[in-house]
Amino acid sequence: MTAQLIDGKAIALKVRQDAAAEVAAMLAAGKPKPGLATVLVGENPASQVYVSSKQKACAELGMESFGYKLPASATQEEVEGLVRNLNADPKVNGILVQLPLPSHLDEEKVLGAISIEKDVDGFHPLNIGRLAQKGRDPLFVPCTPFGCIFLLEQMGVTLEGCNAVVLGRSNIVGMPAALLLVRKNATVTICHSKTKDLPGVVRQADVLIAAIGKAEMVRGDWVKPGAAVIDVGINRIEDLNAPKGTRLVGDVCFDEVKDVAGCITPVPGGVGPMTIAMLMRNTVRAAKIALGE
Ligand code: NDP
Repeated sequence: MTAQLIDGKAIALKVRQDAAAEVAAMLAAGKPKPGLATVLVGENPASQVYVSSKQKACAELGMESFGYKLPASATQEEVEGLVRNLNADPKVNGILVQLPLPSHLDEEKVLGAISIEKDVDGFHPLNIGRLAQKGRDPLFVPCTPFGCIFLLEQMGVTLEGCNAVVLGRSNIVGMPAALLLVRKNATVTICHSKTKDLPGVVRQADVLIAAIGKAEMVRGDWVKPGAAVIDVGINRIEDLNAPKGTRLVGDVCFDEVKDVAGCITPVPGGVGPMTIAMLMRNTVRAAKIALGE
């Protein structure tokens, strides 16, 4: 292995410790505990796991969490009504509506109902719009892309003037990651399922963020020597040697790319831990905004 390993677990732990220290300082100054409300609609097992780990993180950092569950049959008005009540609740600083929502609900309208001062997931159309506009600043940016950029900066990777390639253009990862890179003055190419000659485009990248959900698709000979590689993908593949018969891999073939890249995130233990860490950081920030700080 020639690439430096980007230790997302250690970097995320530091972000969480810093957030916990800020919470402790707020409490010592007689300020209220920052609070995060989670809204889970339906019974999606993966969403249940994500929500409970976010609530656990709040408890570990000394913050309040308020869990709200609605049945999969909840109406648009019921979900938006809950969001409006949370907007008005002073104990709630951040509102996280776990995605995806059941298909009969209008996700954009639900996200748009969240007060932008409490939009700790950064998906409110106004926050995303500001992210895309020169000279405007969003109050919050989406947690996974924020975590990707944070990792690159912690590794001392120069983003200004670099050629960055983002694989994937989803609303939650690819597109906001690309917008964040543009704000860092990178020259950004966004790839998707219709991109021609993907290996040729990826080979131009000084910085690569892969978020396509295709197991180990990015091979060693796609990567420019010395490139910084952030692998967002989480894919479960069969592995008869693993205790459960499966294991997690990213969108990047780690075994090949580790011998070419300058630095690389592992899966698991790379971007994954950053998402909740950045959510905690955003929630502390929301609490400070509510206090007028
Ligand atoms: P989506 O399915 O929403 O988006 C996938 C994107 O990849 C789309 O833009 C799609 O293109 C593109 N794509 C798909 N196949 C190809 C291909 N063969 N060649 C080029 N582009 C392709 O996924 P998400 O953005 O939600 O997630 C991506 C990955 O990141 C998943 O593995 C997910 O599990 C993981 N993830 C990890 C998180 C973490 O905390 N670490 C958080 C969120 C996601 P098109 O637009 O043309 O369809």
